[in-house]
Amino acid sequence: MLTFTNRTALVTGAGRGIGKAIAETLARHGVTVICVSKSADSCGAVAAAITAAGGKAKALAVDVADGAAVAKAAEDLLKEFPTIDILVNNAGITRDGLLFRMSDADWNDVISTNLSSAFHWCKHLARPMTRARWGRIVNITSVSGIMGNAGQANYAAAKAGMIGLTKTLAREFASRSITVNAVAPGFIKTDMTTEFVNNPEASAKILEAVPLKRFGEAADIANITAYLCSEEAGYVTGQVFAVDGGMAM
Ligand code: NAP
Repeated sequence: MLTFTNRTALVTGAGRGIGKAIAETLARHGVTVICVSKSADSCGAVAAAITAAGGKAKALAVDVADGAAVAKAAEDLLKEFPTIDILVNNAGITRDGLLFRMSDADWNDVISTNLSSAFHWCKHLARPMTRARWGRIVNITSVSGIMGNAGQANYAAAKAGMIGLTKTLAREFASRSITVNAVAPGFIKTDMTTEFVNNPEASAKILEAVPLKRFGEAADIANITAYLCSEEAGYVTGQVFAVDGGMAM
């Protein structure tokens, strides 16, 4: 069991997939979890399930791509919660296409949802962490941000940007005992990857590049994220942990 002492976490993209698993795992460790997603239904269902299981959770529908909406949400939350000790920037989308066919809208939507969102949440929630002299930030990036991936210029650029953001904030906040790390999933079974996972030809091709020869589970990402948010991980900062069956080694 990991140690968390009266901690509150905000997890973006907590309505489904990896974010849902992270929110549920933190809640099982006694953390109060603010579950953020785009639709009120998905974060509402996850927060309700956590509460029904005896945990503490609040649902919050915010479009994380909208910097002004994030600023307002953070301001309201900080009136309700004295500190938000843990921030997990997990919300993300894909809008894949080869460069010549990628629209400006698909570029901008992915950058604002996957990268600028993390900048905005960090900016608004890290200040109280600096005052408390304790904090954990985990950014969910991707192997695409480490290796690149044809057809994902927007996504890989956003995810590589998250790695730069992680390492920079780790340096900026280290003197306040705030750690900042990134987790880089490979192919994990969620709604984002259903179309590949359920297609035998596509999945066989993907698995050729995965030494462990299987797709990952959302829990694989949730477990390492929970560790990085715990007391036990206090001496780990500025790192990128690939959880990808060996793809990016
Ligand atoms: P998912 O199943 O598609 O879930 C995405 C979550 O993000 C949903 O809860 C969604 O909200 C939320 N979201 C999307 N856009 C948002 C916005 N503008 N504002 C607020 N919330 C928003 O995705 P996933 O597979 O769990 O992926 C989670 C993270 O891991 C992403 O950053 C993804 O890039 C990364 N990742 C995933 C894989 C993989 O194989 N699955 C691999 C590498 C990296 P709603 O529920 O309201 O739609």
